[in-house]
Amino acid sequence: MKSYRKELWFHTPTRVAFVNITPQVEACVRESGIREGLVLVNAMHITASVFINDEESGLHQDFEHWLEKLAPHSPISQYRHNLTGEENADAHLKRTVMGREVVVAITEGHLDFGPWEQIFYGEFDGRRPKRVLVKIIGE
Ligand code: ZN
Repeated sequence: MKSYRKELWFHTPTRVAFVNITPQVEACVRESGIREGLVLVNAMHITASVFINDEESGLHQDFEHWLEKLAPHSPISQYRHNLTGEENADAHLKRTVMGREVVVAITEGHLDFGPWEQIFYGEFDGRRPKRVLVKIIGE
């Protein structure tokens, strides 16, 4: 069995952002040389997510509005976590809702997606460098 590991770095200019990272993950699959296996893609920070959904800008705005209703950023004082001096309690909650990681099958050297599936990095406390782990195992 072969294995492959890579970290992808992101530094979004905004606090909240969704980035389609499918091309980078496909590049990792090609670089790994693995034809049959599994790829795990996970955010390495507890205020960011990796999830699979549609590349459609209206839907991305819907995610952002829905998450803001579930866990509004302000008033900052509404969260106990922010008593530590941080201001990112909402980002921890949003990350938990959107998930830490995805696993995708690799078949004949390609990501074996269902219709319209794409992999996204979800940033909820950006404006600083953060990482995503790509781990591939297979043959
Ligand atoms: Zn925090």
